[in-house]
Amino acid sequence: MRRLLCFVAAMVVLAAAGAHAQPYPSKPITIVVPFSAGGPTDTLARIMADRMSRTLGQTVLVDNTTGAAGTVGVGRVARAPADGYTIGIGHWSTHVVNGAVYKLNYDLLNDFAPVALFASNPQLLVAKKAVAAKDLKELVSWIKDNPDKVTVGTAGVGAASHVSGVYFAQKISGKVQFIPYRGAAPAMQDLVAGQIDIMFDQAANSLPQVRADKIKAYAVTAKTRLAAAPEIPTVDEAGLPGLYISVWHGLWLPKGTPNDIVAKLNAAVVEALADSTVREKFATLGQEIPPPAQQTPEALFAYHKAEIDLWWPLIKAAGIKVE
Ligand code: ASP
Repeated sequence: MRRLLCFVAAMVVLAAAGAHAQPYPSKPITIVVPFSAGGPTDTLARIMADRMSRTLGQTVLVDNTTGAAGTVGVGRVARAPADGYTIGIGHWSTHVVNGAVYKLNYDLLNDFAPVALFASNPQLLVAKKAVAAKDLKELVSWIKDNPDKVTVGTAGVGAASHVSGVYFAQKISGKVQFIPYRGAAPAMQDLVAGQIDIMFDQAANSLPQVRADKIKAYAVTAKTRLAAAPEIPTVDEAGLPGLYISVWHGLWLPKGTPNDIVAKLNAAVVEALADSTVREKFATLGQEIPPPAQQTPEALFAYHKAEIDLWWPLIKAAGIKVE
């Protein structure tokens, strides 16, 4: 009996060693998008997944696990096995803002292994076509003349779109009505259909609709105009100086993922960001790609931490909470 047990134990050890010896990746990888399909985060995830799968020699799937401003999907990544087969995509609001707004059951900095920062874009202040305001100043007057009437679409409490809207309302001393969705994609559908009035939305999501003349754009939340849409004024030019918000995206793995796997995935990101087709697609979507020195896991960790240190006090002071 003892011999049999020893034999079984030896087989288990061998099987475990064999499993580890399997070259990574040996099966499809999943990127968990914490917002709905067709939105800005989903769009960027699909561009990356497509190019990374070529480098990795495996399919990279996208899975939309939505809800509560991305906390459901990010939580899923935190609890996933640390084997490199579940990657999380997140951004400024899922990985910074949510820590100040929600009681999270994961630690944003310490429960994840950073892979790379890969793109940043400002937001556009957009409105349904029927809004009469010719420019941002007229838009602000209209909002102030109609307290609690103007509806603002968001991707959930604490989402980038929501936090930007709260800052905006505070800055103009106006009162608006926030309408939460499971992502910017369904919110945009309602904006195009005229069901809601305005929205702060990442350029990646709203630029195609602006170009198709389905919505109006009033300003971009950055110091400089977008190369992809130079006709849209900056917030400074349009009359709301300093309302800068850059929504940056990164990729993370569950904490404890072996370093060689992190390095492989990082290399696949770096290769994707050097690819001219990816760069072109990102440029059309108003995305800025970080310089190579900022594409390392260490750089993502440092930037992530600096953003938390910068924004948490501001968000807490602004009193943004889950209703
Ligand atoms: N990232 C969200 C989405 O993809 C939008 C947001 O945070 O405002 O829908």
